[in-house]
Amino acid sequence: MATKTKKQAFDWQLAPAPESKDHFTLKSEYDLFIGGKWVKPKSGKYFDTINPANEQKIARIAEANQADVDAAVKAARKAYDNVWSKMPAAERAKYIYRIARLLQEKARQFAVVESMDGGKAIRESRDVDVPLAAAHFFYYAGWADKLGYAFPGKTPSALGVAGQIIPWNFPLLMAAWKIAPALACGNTVVLKPAETTPLTSLLLAELIQEAELPDGVVNIITGAGATGAALVNHPGIDKIAFTGSTGVGKLIQKSIAGTGKKATLELGGKAANIIFADATIDQAVEGIINGIYFNQGHVCCAGSRLFVEEGVHDEVIRKLKHRMRSLVVGDPLDKNTDIGAINSKEQLGTINKYLKVGVADGAEMYQPACELPSKGFWCRPTLFLNVAQSARIAQEEIFGPVLAVQTFRTVDEVIQKANNTLYGLSAGVWTDKGSKIFNLTSKLRAGVIWANTYNKFDPTSPFGGYKESGYGREGGLHGLSAYLNLS
Ligand code: NAP
Ligand code: MG
Repeated sequence: MATKTKKQAFDWQLAPAPESKDHFTLKSEYDLFIGGKWVKPKSGKYFDTINPANEQKIARIAEANQADVDAAVKAARKAYDNVWSKMPAAERAKYIYRIARLLQEKARQFAVVESMDGGKAIRESRDVDVPLAAAHFFYYAGWADKLGYAFPGKTPSALGVAGQIIPWNFPLLMAAWKIAPALACGNTVVLKPAETTPLTSLLLAELIQEAELPDGVVNIITGAGATGAALVNHPGIDKIAFTGSTGVGKLIQKSIAGTGKKATLELGGKAANIIFADATIDQAVEGIINGIYFNQGHVCCAGSRLFVEEGVHDEVIRKLKHRMRSLVVGDPLDKNTDIGAINSKEQLGTINKYLKVGVADGAEMYQPACELPSKGFWCRPTLFLNVAQSARIAQEEIFGPVLAVQTFRTVDEVIQKANNTLYGLSAGVWTDKGSKIFNLTSKLRAGVIWANTYNKFDPTSPFGGYKESGYGREGGLHGLSAYLNLS
């Protein structure tokens, strides 16, 4: 009989089912990918990327300074002027298809490395992140030679060099969201991944080399916030595509004001997930779990505010607590894991601060009594009941597995409460009535609204926010227009 190592808060235990790591080797040190080559950073500096599930160092990563950023932007400009802008669109498409296919071939390695570097459960990196990243390359490859049909009556032309900055919650997927449409529209790019999750972007650089993309069309530079700021402020950049926090998004807006640089900003969120009494409650409970505990709650569109119609509150909470007790928290590489590691010590500190704030503000906290590993950064799935509309845990983005529950009696009340936020990225509605869905989707101020499901993504569907959740859309046709001059 297999050893029972996972002590869950439930009355059964699971045997370990770890994904293997012996089918690839990582380098111990990664340089910058500039002009199609791996180059040492002019800064001479490196930093470590660690595995947040065990705090062990995985590799040393180059830290790009202003001179390195300059070299990357110049390489992108040269590739744009000499090669990429002159290449027939159908030829560009072939390279993008090649990237998509190679990504599918190497899917297992990408999934394992994503989970090692960022802490997310292998089930998600394997079934969500990597397949969706490949799907984005396939989807945008198809558009490359059809841009005239995408925008009838217009003459679409590329913007030039795009500077792209991405966060740590969906590292490979965000790289795909940025690179695929940019290339399809004929731009060249300089991409900077987040400091804590550079590895899958660097593996993507290796894959791009293997795909024989012309040198300099995609440049990948690593570093911290200062590297991102140097990219934003570089005069050779025509467009900034940023996904990250609202705070940094505002800084970027200020620094590019008056420069003529175009920008799309995909920022934070505080989504309302709304459960009506006529919903199929068991399904809705799964949707709540998926909405907030998926990827440790490190999801900009996480359903972090739950609104339950008063009559079904007790039933929903009873079933939700029952389901939370069965969630497996632990080794991200274990195929049974539902909730992996928190991405960094810093993020865990932020989440723990909000747990204290929630309790101090008078909300009732519930966490299942699951055992956490002794090393690494972990947070139990958390529920807050009796949350006031004005409470900080109901207003501020926590970016962790923490759900704030409120109740409502009427449709108008829940619309008013759901819209009472600085953000407007996403929302969820659970009801049996199509008319209620149509009513809410037209009145909720959110870029994406899911009905009787949550956290579903598709490359054909635009994604983006209202208010402090940013502007511009990624995905679908909208995602193309963000990388084109349309005259
Ligand atoms: P962040 O601190 O804003 O970082 C995002 C990226 O910007 C990272 O690569 C970061 O580098 C870089 N950066 C930091 N300071 C910068 C500066 N002054 N100028 C230019 N770049 C700078 O956000 P995060 O904490 O990594 O990510 C979580 C946030 O992203 C959440 O608010 C979440 O809601 C949001 N998000 C939004 C979407 C969406 O589509 N709307 C999707 C995913 C995440 P370092 O990593 O080195 O600091
Ligand atoms: Mg890491």
